[in-house]
Amino acid sequence: MIVDFHTHSSASDGALSPEQLLKRAVDAGVQHFAITDHDTLAGYLQVRESPSAKRVGLVPGVELSCRWAKSTIHIVGLNFDPDAPEMTSMVEQLSRVRRKRAKTIADRLAGVGIPNALEGAMAVAASSQIGRPHFAQWMVDAGVVTGMNQAFDRYLGNGKVGDVKAYWPSLADVTEVIVASGGEAIMAHPLKYRLTGVKLRAMLTDFVASGGTGLEVLNGRQIDADRRRLVTLASSLGLKVSVGSDFHKDLTYGAPVGVAVDSLNLDNSVWQTWLASK
Ligand code: AMP
Ligand code: MN
Ligand code: MN
Ligand code: MN
Repeated sequence: MIVDFHTHSSASDGALSPEQLLKRAVDAGVQHFAITDHDTLAGYLQVRESPSAKRVGLVPGVELSCRWAKSTIHIVGLNFDPDAPEMTSMVEQLSRVRRKRAKTIADRLAGVGIPNALEGAMAVAASSQIGRPHFAQWMVDAGVVTGMNQAFDRYLGNGKVGDVKAYWPSLADVTEVIVASGGEAIMAHPLKYRLTGVKLRAMLTDFVASGGTGLEVLNGRQIDADRRRLVTLASSLGLKVSVGSDFHKDLTYGAPVGVAVDSLNLDNSVWQTWLASK
């Protein structure tokens, strides 16, 4: 079986339109699918009634930004009620936060001699949910840096001048909203936060206490040992497992849409629960 519960469309920082992304999933033979844009449901809502949505078993999805201690954390929400008022008001709040954050990022860039970034990034983002990749793209287009990686390495990445995380809601708040909306709250890419083993466990304990139900044990290109470690961690915490490509665009070193799960030995997965309830 092929599934994918972590993908991005042009409604946030992905390159493909929601409909193009669905087509990729159809072509890859995906049977259970989610579009998990950063802090917006716009892409999902645009295509939820389309024939391709049915073919790929599209469930509502989102990737919500939040904070825990000093880290920015991402929680994937799956199979919630997309019209739940808690969810609607959370993505509205996060959209406001992103606009406010964009202004702060631009002010900070101006402070290091890079003016006009807000106008630039907003033009790149157009109607998409604005984020650091739009700043990075503008910096590339404006010749400030030679590529996206350099933009993150020098200005936008973790701990750099344009890394603004003060405004995100708490991990508990976003987890509770997903659960209150009837969905599964999945801790996205647990190994990308660069937490120590002790801190990771503390973070996941708080996540479980807030109602978190799943752990993403496979995210994009990843070595088998990491998946095994995360499967063990999930089972020790009583969490279900989820997987996703985290597809944004075609990259030679990136993962394509669709994850073949039959050979991965994953019991207690989020999609098995849905199959059983059908
Ligand atoms: P934001 O959600 O606005 O904080 O932006 C974070 C997004 O930037 C992530 O979801 C990735 O898609 C992207 N990103 C993070 N680091 C890099 C990097 N080094 N190069 C390119 N894109 C990155
Ligand atoms: Mn992204
Ligand atoms: Mn993420
Ligand atoms: Mn993602």
